[in-house]
Amino acid sequence: MKVPEHVAFSFLLAQLGVHQQYGWPGTALVIAAGCLPDLDGIGIIGGWRFYRRYHRILGHGLPMTLLGPAALAFLGSWTLHVGPFLVLWSWLQVSLLLHLFTDVCFYNWPVQLAWPLSKRGWAGGLLTWNDLVPTILLYGGAASILAWPEKRMWTALVAIVATATYLGWRALRPEREFAWEAWLAGGWTERSPRLCRWITGDFVT
Ligand SMILES: [Zn+2]
Repeated sequence: MKVPEHVAFSFLLAQLGVHQQYGWPGTALVIAAGCLPDLDGIGIIGGWRFYRRYHRILGHGLPMTLLGPAALAFLGSWTLHVGPFLVLWSWLQVSLLLHLFTDVCFYNWPVQLAWPLSKRGWAGGLLTWNDLVPTILLYGGAASILAWPEKRMWTALVAIVATATYLGWRALRPEREFAWEAWLAGGWTERSPRLCRWITGDFVT
């Protein structure tokens, strides 16, 4: 998943309980936890080669998985007084684990989940890099919640279940048989303005 999609996905996750309980500060923490692993993407400042070498390793390994959400929960509980540590920590841990899960499922770009103990990379490769379906579902869900906040929980649930269903469907049926499927799976990027790709979080093509 690309960073703006992680933001949208974590935002949706927060609507399943955190937002109702702890408001926008709680939602902000869930989004932060859901984006934490991609801090290693900052390596792009060091150049494309540095980025390719360390992205999906440093921030996606064991130290971040075990300590990152706990540190954020500590910040949220003791410094910002958002809510009790254990409750926050559970939600933030789930948010980070879902980041890793979606990263592994989505693209054919290995994630080193057990770094530094193991350098084995995990990649499901169920989706192509520019597949528009999850982008539309996640952005659409998030926008609907901003427009109709009273339905936040159900909208979030529908968007998350729809994304999971699409992943499952792609796992069962990897071939894109129809022209419209191929277009949605990445064909749309041909001759598309760069801005359109940026909006989906594709900053690399
Ligand atoms: Zn990631």
